[in-house]
Amino acid sequence: MRNLKLPSLFRQEGLIGGTWVGARSGKTVDVFDPASQEVIGTVPDMGGDDTRAAIEAAEKAYPAWKNRTHAERAALLETWYGLMIEHLEDLALMLTTEQGKPLDEARGEIRYGASFVKWFAEEARRIGGQTIPSPTPDRRIIVLKEPVGVCGIITPWNFPNAMITRKIAPALAAGCTVVVKPSEFTPYSALALGVLAEMAGIPAGVVNIVTGMPKEIGTEIMANTAVRKISFTGSTPVGSLLMRGAADSIKRLSLELGGNAPFIVFDDADIDLAIEGAIISKFRNGGQTCVCANRILVQAGVYDRFAEKLTARVNAMKVGPGTEPGVSIGPMINDAAIAKINRHVEDALAKGAMIVTAKADLPAGTQYTAPIVLTGATTDMQLASEETFGPVAPLFRFETEEEAIAIANGTPFGLAAYFYTESLKRAWRVGEALEFGMVGLNTGLISTEVAPFGGVKQSGLGREGSQLGIEEYLEVKTFHIGGL
Ligand code: ADP
Repeated sequence: MRNLKLPSLFRQEGLIGGTWVGARSGKTVDVFDPASQEVIGTVPDMGGDDTRAAIEAAEKAYPAWKNRTHAERAALLETWYGLMIEHLEDLALMLTTEQGKPLDEARGEIRYGASFVKWFAEEARRIGGQTIPSPTPDRRIIVLKEPVGVCGIITPWNFPNAMITRKIAPALAAGCTVVVKPSEFTPYSALALGVLAEMAGIPAGVVNIVTGMPKEIGTEIMANTAVRKISFTGSTPVGSLLMRGAADSIKRLSLELGGNAPFIVFDDADIDLAIEGAIISKFRNGGQTCVCANRILVQAGVYDRFAEKLTARVNAMKVGPGTEPGVSIGPMINDAAIAKINRHVEDALAKGAMIVTAKADLPAGTQYTAPIVLTGATTDMQLASEETFGPVAPLFRFETEEEAIAIANGTPFGLAAYFYTESLKRAWRVGEALEFGMVGLNTGLISTEVAPFGGVKQSGLGREGSQLGIEEYLEVKTFHIGGL
């Protein structure tokens, strides 16, 4: 990869037990730059045997890592954090090159990703326990928190850095060791984190990275009894498959799955604030985030004004390679993403929706799509029930608060929801009525390391970030001391 200040950050091998290796089969997979569709490089296409070796390495490293003091683990995480910040520009460039998002957003992701490492370095020191008043005078009861053990970590392509640190950092802070399988579309950001972990002095085998196509790797992670926990971010079907696969050996699970976020603008909203929120929530990462507004519900009294203002903002957006200055929408991750977006838009148009944005200039290449605003969206359209994962803003018109809540909750998913109102009473009413793990009132931004992140219903299990994030990697041991 060109233009890196530290070229060694670009690794084309997996990391097993402190050694950079290829696949035992010798197979590789190509990784593409979505902006140009040129091959950036290859990574090993690892299989079940490579994954087993990585799990064994994690198992071997586990006792020593677990027995380090919290302060020692915290210090290593702090060093790792410092290296991420020091190499922020390289990491951001690599991220944009393999994932496509605008460089400024990539810088933001590296800062966000690194923030989890710092946060959990701090939390490592606060893993407490409990003493429980004894029911009899000759006994004492103590609750200890212990690491879960070896964790399998499977992550998607939309946040190739942050989705990994959000899992590895609490795992390591708790005393777990990990086998990470990044998305086959964006492995280099993960491998660069491995390089920095080594530089930070995190011992061999604590962080292992296996690359390649998911099936065999996933099968081994699910079947291997040494893996005590799986933490996954990705689609609901794969999450459900992993849950079934984890059932045989009763592994712990954290699942951060798909969403179908409603973004509700009431008549009494601050419209300019709502427009800002909609831009951030809908168009960040080209609309390819699981908390992206998927359905924008606008009350009849402000519908036309909101549509007009949003359209003006979207018309000003520039589409192009993420490395080009001024670009706000980069390429989509692959052809399948473009096909899904086109399918949703065609279906909406056939059912009466209208594109109100101007025709955008698109650069050459098949992975670009124009950001658009659609008016006249209705709940029978595909984009109402499926995540579009693209820069398409469908505006649904509603009349009453009850109607908006019913539409918003009318989905099997429950990750993020947003709403805009200036009324205190409505704020409480709607905030409590929405069946989602995260609700943004008068804000389109809900991701921070300090707050719990996660969903309800088919959007997943468990929470990442915050004080809760580390609990996902801790077991409770109740220690009864008798005969005193
Ligand atoms: P997305 O639509 O975000 O790509 P996926 O659920 O397909 O979501 O992918 C998320 C992660 O899950 C990726 O790392 C992918 O390689 C991995 N994955 C996909 N299928 C499987 C599987 N059968 N077993 C384990 N991991 C899988």
